[in-house]
Amino acid sequence: MAEVLVLVDHVDGQVKKVTTELLTAARRIGEPAAVWVGEGVESGKAALAEFGAEKVYVAPAEVNDYVVAPKAELLTKLAQDKGAAAILVSATAENKEIAGRTAVKLGSGVLTDVVDVNAELVTEHSIFGGATVTHARVRTGVPVIAVRPNSVVPEAAAGAAAEEAVSVEISDAAKTAKVVERVVQEKGERPELTEAAIVVSGGRGVGSDDFAVVENLADSLGAAVGASRAVVDSGWYPNQFQVGQTGKTVSPNLYIALGISGAIQHRAGMQTSKNIVAVNKDPEAPIFELADFGVVGDLHTVAPQLTEEINKRK
Ligand SMILES: Cc1cc2nc3c(=O)[nH]c(=O)nc-3n(C[C@H](O)[C@H](O)[C@H](O)COP(=O)(O)OP(=O)(O)OC[C@H]3O[C@@H](n4cnc5c(N)ncnc54)[C@H](O)[C@@H]3O)c2cc1C
Repeated sequence: MAEVLVLVDHVDGQVKKVTTELLTAARRIGEPAAVWVGEGVESGKAALAEFGAEKVYVAPAEVNDYVVAPKAELLTKLAQDKGAAAILVSATAENKEIAGRTAVKLGSGVLTDVVDVNAELVTEHSIFGGATVTHARVRTGVPVIAVRPNSVVPEAAAGAAAEEAVSVEISDAAKTAKVVERVVQEKGERPELTEAAIVVSGGRGVGSDDFAVVENLADSLGAAVGASRAVVDSGWYPNQFQVGQTGKTVSPNLYIALGISGAIQHRAGMQTSKNIVAVNKDPEAPIFELADFGVVGDLHTVAPQLTEEINKRK
């Protein structure tokens, strides 16, 4: 069975959930082979094995010293040497650039913002804010596919995760932009938005200086905090918490929308959540079309009561 290369996303050896999603998708196509760049492979290998990686190709340390170009050269070489059936990366801004460069080098095609891929390498894309679904397939060469986080449900399946150091000759052209410093963004106690099992999001209905009502409910549930674009554009909450078409895509078990109308662009980032609860004072708000459970009421009355009840039951 041909190998399917999966570029691993990790933070200091901690494998991100999206990589387990990519390994799950890769198993439909062929034999998953993880590609590891950076330090920490010893810490991350167990997670790769748990989700079916048969091999773990470890890049030379130098690849991580530069921005995207060496990674594209690495993936190109591996795809050629191993006769890979496809290359999967997560659809982050950096990885989409790596995907594009790799496809050019391989003379193949790239598909980005994919939400599903089947055994025949037909990809699914959710476009126009989720209103339309399209399908695509690369017709020439090794497909390079960038899959959106939280699109595939990760399923465990044991793999050997046999480690293999790989060498690659990095061209001078790929060494023009060197990484001079890495700063780890300070993280609070809350889970990462795209990886959280529960997300509590606030919209314009929350008001300009009342976001604590969203944070308190999130904290009672151990949830991540999200926000609509209206909130972010108004400067009420930082833009890395925006959910939607031009923000993050989330797919938690539970999504609680407080004072969010449910515009199509917001829905595009959360409509695959397993359970959706909406609190909105307007019974006609479009979010109720999507919600599994809705409360028509003032969020400033409903959310604190909910928080209190949850805290009491802990
Ligand atoms: C190209 C493009 C991309 C976009 N990308 C995104 C995106 O990524 N994410 C995103 O969110 N939006 C995005 N938008 C914006 C989107 O169209 C909406 O404008 C936005 O989602 C509205 O945010 P909102 O629901 O918070 O505000 P509103 O639409 O103003 O809704 C506020 C809601 O709060 C309710 N409310 C008010 N007070 C209370 C209260 N006290 N208690 C309970 N309910 C109350 C109201 O009834 C209303 O339903 C995009 C738009 C464009 C054109």
